[in-house]
Amino acid sequence: EIKNVNEDYFGSYSSFGIHREMIGDKVRTEAYRCAILNNSSLFNGATIMDVGCGTGILSLFAAQAGASSVIAVEASTKMAAVATQIANDNGFLCKGKNIGKGKDCSGVVIVVPSMVEELDKFKEIPLHSVDVLVSEWMGYCLLYESMLGSVLYARDHWLKPSGAILPDTATIFVAGFGRGGTSLPFWENVYGFDMSCIGKEIMEDAARFPIVDVINSRDIVTESAVLQSFDLVTMSLEEMDFTSNCDLVLKDSLEEDSANAQSNTYWCYGIILWFETGFTNRFCKETPVVLSTSPYSSKTHWCQTIFTFHEPVAMASRKSFPGSAVAAVGTEQCPAVRVRTRISIARSSVHRSIDISLETMG
Ligand code: SAH
Repeated sequence: EIKNVNEDYFGSYSSFGIHREMIGDKVRTEAYRCAILNNSSLFNGATIMDVGCGTGILSLFAAQAGASSVIAVEASTKMAAVATQIANDNGFLCKGKNIGKGKDCSGVVIVVPSMVEELDKFKEIPLHSVDVLVSEWMGYCLLYESMLGSVLYARDHWLKPSGAILPDTATIFVAGFGRGGTSLPFWENVYGFDMSCIGKEIMEDAARFPIVDVINSRDIVTESAVLQSFDLVTMSLEEMDFTSNCDLVLKDSLEEDSANAQSNTYWCYGIILWFETGFTNRFCKETPVVLSTSPYSSKTHWCQTIFTFHEPVAMASRKSFPGSAVAAVGTEQCPAVRVRTRISIARSSVHRSIDISLETMG
């Protein structure tokens, strides 16, 4: 039943541990802080809506950046009360009744305890009156449990036609990892004992369910590829369901290696997905910012999402098949030059969940 699922979802946010984890994620929080405080021409005197304010951290940044009014919307009643208290304790709470008018207010932040989809109950907030929408809506693998749909709803109802959305772009990336990215090497040699039977069992489980964990960039064997890009200004809800094909080629640094290597075949044991969101110069003209959850950047609480193949795929050096990389795929000499995968992500019937299917070809 939808209502109960909703209560579970928003109830989970009233545990402070989750907010501690998010605020403690420096990469995340500082990206938002930098985008808000260092683009003051966007915020100064503007009406801001913070979709899913949680503790209200982004609303407080917006108030610091000179916003004339910050509408902080939070579906969890508990967190909305906490955000109100925090805004008050820091002198940013608007105490008057004139929502969005900057009058009768000691501060500029108004916390509205509501789902953003039900905001029209609050007649004081006129449609299409918001200059800047800000939200931290991203989930694992970008879309898992993500609130993107709610942000698009807010965009279509409350944002001015020329208004800004922060962040305004989102991109999902994919890359393949080698043996080092699996649990096999660890269990093969435990103080000199062979415990590889555990490693194999873990690998079988891993092939059934994706895992959220960090991957060391050393263990990545392919170049990165873009799986899907989203433009939050123009995208529709339906774009969250997509199928994407990608070819992953051996990492350039391994190509160089393979010139000297005895055997120039590498094995790809699976793929990882991660995302970046952009606060691009479309709106952040003074200081564009990128929030990256890449294995090549500092760790975030999103880690990477790891999908292990049932069988590893051999990848030969592109150099061993000059000019014919694609034609050589699947021939006997060369099991594969590339990992070809088709990845589909679709909203699931389970609330805010997603279904991911992965198909490896060649
Ligand atoms: N902005 C805060 C919290 C981000 S977590 C920060 O950056 O730290 C997302 C928050 O959005 C949660 O508190 C959740 O309860 C709230 N939320 C999720 N969907 C919502 C919706 N449809 N309407 C209002 N709030 C929502």
